[in-house]
Amino acid sequence: MAAPMPAEAPEIQVNDVLMAASFPGWSGGIAGEDEGMSERVELVWIGDEGPAYDHGPTHPLRPARYVLTRALIADYGLLDGPRVVEVAGRTASDAELALVHRPRYIDAVRRAGHGEAGAWWEFGFGPGDNPIFAGMHEAAARVAGASLVAAEAVWTGRAEHAFNPAGGLHHAMAERASGFCVYDDPAVAIAWLLDHGAERVAYVDVDVHHGDGPQALFYDDPRVLTISLHQDGRTLFPGTGAVGELGGGDALGTKVNVALPPFTGDDGWRAAFDEIVPPLVEAFAPQVLVTQLGCDSHHLDPLANLLLTTAAYRHAAQALHELAHRAAGGRWLATGGGGYQWARVVPRAWTTYFAEMAGIEVADELPVAWRVRASREAGHDIATTLSEPAVPAGVDLATVHAVVSDVKGHVFSFHGL
Ligand SMILES: [Zn+2]
Ligand SMILES: [Zn+2]
Repeated sequence: MAAPMPAEAPEIQVNDVLMAASFPGWSGGIAGEDEGMSERVELVWIGDEGPAYDHGPTHPLRPARYVLTRALIADYGLLDGPRVVEVAGRTASDAELALVHRPRYIDAVRRAGHGEAGAWWEFGFGPGDNPIFAGMHEAAARVAGASLVAAEAVWTGRAEHAFNPAGGLHHAMAERASGFCVYDDPAVAIAWLLDHGAERVAYVDVDVHHGDGPQALFYDDPRVLTISLHQDGRTLFPGTGAVGELGGGDALGTKVNVALPPFTGDDGWRAAFDEIVPPLVEAFAPQVLVTQLGCDSHHLDPLANLLLTTAAYRHAAQALHELAHRAAGGRWLATGGGGYQWARVVPRAWTTYFAEMAGIEVADELPVAWRVRASREAGHDIATTLSEPAVPAGVDLATVHAVVSDVKGHVFSFHGL
């Protein structure tokens, strides 16, 4: 008689021989068993073939944010070591997208992007935030597919950590485009993990905007803990993310919102992160940590009003990395997200996160070749270092602390804290 599988072991649906041929670091193994787990770290690259996820030249969400991020990661030599591997993304199937999106919405996205006429505004499309663009379904399905490759990597044990810088489109809803987001790739990845046997997934969203998509799509699902640190929705899109949004039914207490006042700086943000994120994730004991690493919380970002510097990202990177190992068996799936200083800020922010994932300390001074390329594309000078001078906060720590206390009061007791 076969020994029963441990409850948390997923079905293995990959062929070890094929995996070994395709992935040099692959040594087999089952997620949930640390032994045999690869220490490999993957950068999942969406690729340059097929239509770009691009709403047009005047739209603030620029593909350059992840193109320049990949270039900076490469120029720092982070892809050269034996542990770090760049892998190709893929296209998410309709069935995979339908894990969170309605079929009629997927159909509408495809037809609108193929130039068909229709009442597309009913699905959130139109001039402004979510203009229709050619090949919209194909492009958005590739963003989601890259997050699925990252999910497969960490769930099968092919890699410990995986990062899709093109992902993090966290505002898309079941049948509505919103906030520049067509398909909700973090939610698709989480749903895929659940579908493949995960019982608990923690999602931490540090984008300056509320992570409303994953929260709404798993609002009543106790298997998914979502924690969003964002600028207070009374002052910023999408308006949600109040402390009282706690999840429904059995899921009460698994949806956590830290709504920070405008002009919160590094110190307040770090204090809020440290007091809320590690204790809750640890208490939840997820099998996978999924993070959305939007860096539109930076003081130079044109779309929001937090005042962070790259010091906050370095802190979050270290804390999330430690947490992934301490609380989630090392399985860490990271996506990009918002970030509208696509040359000045985003590449430095996400390279900071990826270097931490790879366990490589990089020089503070940015590679010259990268600076030349980035300033040429941006048409202005680029900072010379990853680090940058401190910026004074515009709100006192006591105000931030009141928000943190309110969150603790609403949520911690559900988790025995
Ligand atoms: Zn954002
Ligand atoms: Zn690690």
